[in-house]
Amino acid sequence: MLNLSASEVWFVTGSQHLYGPETLATVAEHSAAIAAALDDAPSIPVRVVPMPVLTGSADILALVQAANADPACVGLITWMHTFSPAKMWIAGLEALQKPFLHLHTQFNREIPWADIDMDFMNLNQAAHGDREFGFIAARLRLERKVVVGHWGDPSVQDQVGTWARAACAKADWRGGKIARFGDNMREVAVTEGDKVEAQRRLGFSVNTWGVGDLVKVVNDASDGDVDDLVARYLDEYDVVAELRPGGDRASSLRDGARIELGLRRFLEDGGFTAFTDTFEDLHGLRQLPGLAVQRLMADGYGFGGEGDWKTAAMVRAMKVMSAGLDGGTSFMEDYTYHLTGEDDVILGAHMLEVCPSIAGGRPRLEIHPLGIGGKEDPVRLVFDAHPGPAVAACITDMGQRFRMVATVVDVVPAEQPLPKLPVARAVWRPRPDLRTAAAAWIYAGGSHHTSLGFSVTKAQLQDFAAMSGVELLVIDEATTLDGFRDQLRWNDLYWLLAKGL
Ligand code: MN
Repeated sequence: MLNLSASEVWFVTGSQHLYGPETLATVAEHSAAIAAALDDAPSIPVRVVPMPVLTGSADILALVQAANADPACVGLITWMHTFSPAKMWIAGLEALQKPFLHLHTQFNREIPWADIDMDFMNLNQAAHGDREFGFIAARLRLERKVVVGHWGDPSVQDQVGTWARAACAKADWRGGKIARFGDNMREVAVTEGDKVEAQRRLGFSVNTWGVGDLVKVVNDASDGDVDDLVARYLDEYDVVAELRPGGDRASSLRDGARIELGLRRFLEDGGFTAFTDTFEDLHGLRQLPGLAVQRLMADGYGFGGEGDWKTAAMVRAMKVMSAGLDGGTSFMEDYTYHLTGEDDVILGAHMLEVCPSIAGGRPRLEIHPLGIGGKEDPVRLVFDAHPGPAVAACITDMGQRFRMVATVVDVVPAEQPLPKLPVARAVWRPRPDLRTAAAAWIYAGGSHHTSLGFSVTKAQLQDFAAMSGVELLVIDEATTLDGFRDQLRWNDLYWLLAKGL
């Protein structure tokens, strides 16, 4: 399972020598106190590590180089308690390869009206010290997050936590490895893309393995391990009678367990973070992996069907961003509509591969025919997603750049039971309404595959896209079609011109 508690954000305080050693010692004390408070904040999932107060360009550059080199460090928080002349920050900031958050805060929450003197003023001068730092970051055109408020405020800590989660997802993308079994589904456009550019810009590698390499590991799984895994299925799910030991189709469940064991071992041995498969390339596998994919997603792997490596990357990023939070994240597909006009909703599902982390109750383990792929009937978990606000997001390759599109939705209970639908599903109402949201999505060229996450917020995706250098289009309650279409036109120009900024 994913765990962000080993990741670090370095808390970096800038000052200068003008004030003498006593003041610098106080600055260091205050800096350590703030870092400790952020480290303890329940909304910040990473370690916040205090760094020595920086007073010169050589120290700043050395710290940045150490941050770049340390795989545990996912980003920096910067704060100028006093004034730190910003020319000394140029070399360091230009060398920085990790995201940074500029925390515009002050050690003292209140002005001590009756006692304030120039010593207090000279110590608590972030109000202008941080503006000097803000200028140089703006002049250098550096992407960063600015958060303003007292460091003890839960709302400030929430924003730091949101950014830290995005920084963890970015770091995960940087070292990420996506395994593809087979290529993209033939003739499909949106699942294609430039894998070299993805590795350069987004950081993760995407490479293919022949499905035969997977089949070999699947066939190597021992009968004893299959027995154990089937026992776990019986424990965790409501398994239909025909799949239970002694049932007519018990061997199909054993085949499914064998596929899970092989796939899991392949991914673990290769250090992969996400994977894809395709029903068009299953030679030697008895079933299209359904149950196995569902359970691997629940353990934190990204996944995309039909070779969709970009959605696999998106599912993985959203799982990292929401690690430790309730709600779940799944691969998803906009499948069919309820177009009543008054309460239009989308029924989302996939052939099999919906993650049980979004299940509203205990999943049922069932077997049904699959009309495509020409293989034996696959076993799969069937459930309804729990209700609640969620975000569905995709990433597409527009040729000149990658584009992320996110739609804020409300997952709702299905109006009626779906007794004949043999796959897991979610029903949702996009904001502001289906007509506006679907039109905007289609104007933007968003894909039919998405990652649907319940604990991922618009703010997290905004931070993540910004630090990843990716265009983001958000469709939510504030979206109007006129405004959205203008945004598409402006963005085309911005992303062209931004290369020259
Ligand atoms: Mn699909």
